[in-house]
Amino acid sequence: MKILHISAECYPAAKAGGLGDVAGALPKYLRDLGAETAVIIPKYRSKWIYEQSYEPVFQGHLSIAHWTVPFAIEKCGNPTLGFPLYMVNVPRLFDRPGIYNDPQTGQGYWDDLERWLVFQQAVLQWLLHHNPYNVFHCHDHHTGLVPFMIKHCRAYRALAHIPTVFTIHNGQYHGAFHWDKTFMLPDYDRDAGGLLDWDGMINPLATGIKCCWQLTTVSAGYMEELRAGSSGGLEWLINNERAKSVGIVNGIDTDVWNPKTDPLLGTHLNVNVADWKAKAKLFITQKFHLRNDLPLIIFIGRLVGEKGADLLPNLIHRFLSEGGEAVFFILGTGEQSVSDALMRMKSRYLGVFDTALMYNEELSHRLYAGADFLLMPSRVEPCGLNQLYSLRYGTIPIVRAVGGLRDTVSDIADEKGCGIQFAAFNETEALEALYRATDLYQQAEKWANLRQHIMQIDHSWKQSAQRYLNIYQDMVSRT
Ligand code: ADP
Repeated sequence: MKILHISAECYPAAKAGGLGDVAGALPKYLRDLGAETAVIIPKYRSKWIYEQSYEPVFQGHLSIAHWTVPFAIEKCGNPTLGFPLYMVNVPRLFDRPGIYNDPQTGQGYWDDLERWLVFQQAVLQWLLHHNPYNVFHCHDHHTGLVPFMIKHCRAYRALAHIPTVFTIHNGQYHGAFHWDKTFMLPDYDRDAGGLLDWDGMINPLATGIKCCWQLTTVSAGYMEELRAGSSGGLEWLINNERAKSVGIVNGIDTDVWNPKTDPLLGTHLNVNVADWKAKAKLFITQKFHLRNDLPLIIFIGRLVGEKGADLLPNLIHRFLSEGGEAVFFILGTGEQSVSDALMRMKSRYLGVFDTALMYNEELSHRLYAGADFLLMPSRVEPCGLNQLYSLRYGTIPIVRAVGGLRDTVSDIADEKGCGIQFAAFNETEALEALYRATDLYQQAEKWANLRQHIMQIDHSWKQSAQRYLNIYQDMVSRT
């Protein structure tokens, strides 16, 4: 069994969020189950990508409207990845520092449509030339047209028999564009045009859902929510495709996220959890001049509505101004209004609040290790990986019960609970959850036992990788 993952991100080469983590971990676990798995992404301008060696494996050119776009497929020479990683090299479109956004402005790239159309077609041209794969596994809207193109575009029809899996990591982004851009698509059967359409637009997410053999998303809870109202207008469609859809919860890469070996940590877990956590916390509180005697509550992630980031400034302000006893640290990038509000709080709450408005992988690892609690007040959460990393690093998650958070973090009111849940998305319930956390922090024995317990929970990819493999095998047996 040979699988190709077609993705916009893959850790450690390119990561903006959970998709990168999944594409960088699932292939290793599939390999352990005996399935040969490769990944292909665009070749961006990142430090990691620049530091590797590459072997060119294919060169071609494709036409988008009246432009001819030359491209190369290169195989990354890094031997430690655990799977073959290929990149589509089109310097004009991808040799840029951001994956989706220009880091200078925070805005998406103006030529996004061209970027993803070129990426998908370059992959398919390469596969036409040489395809050892039994399954194509496409991720999110950036690759949503692949299942359509291989069925309905003459140029790629030689690949039509290959089964496709389409995974929705984030149902908020559809990549939709106007029908007046049809001239940018490769020639397709006009009878099949309806498959491209959703609500009067060409919608790659909807097209992926319609045309794939198997639809998955990253937790069972999120699949339900996509059907019920979290898919930005695709609810009916996702309900309609129920027979071929399933939620499979993401796992974590326990090689990367290992408190005993994680190279991004300053101190490693030896035997004594309390000792290790104390050292990791001291690193953070010293570095950012924060009090060390209070529980450290962190938030890591995109500062956007989906993550509930807009709740943070007022929530923290309310908690601290009421005399709540905790220290907060926020690592993230995103909406200007949230960033501005957080910056204003820095000077107001010296010693108990700080923020780093940046993407910083190393600091994130240090924070997962050093914190006492992780706050995730998400409005929508397809799976969420932060809570899984924090469990592994002995940091108790405080989560809104939504999507994958509800599936993975049971409340400590239950016998085997591993975190603190709140139900409604509002300040009052989130505040209540913060007070539950600080109360727990006062109960030394209960606190220590819980920390030991959560670090033992197995959230590795093992079971979920097996579920994907079963899907691949089932599809291939039908060809
Ligand atoms: P998303 O919806 O953003 O994909 P996930 O919880 O699935 O959310 O994954 C987020 C991943 O991105 C985690 O690995 C998290 O640690 C990482 N991450 C998010 N923001 C930052 C940041 N500012 N710095 C470092 N890592 C970040």
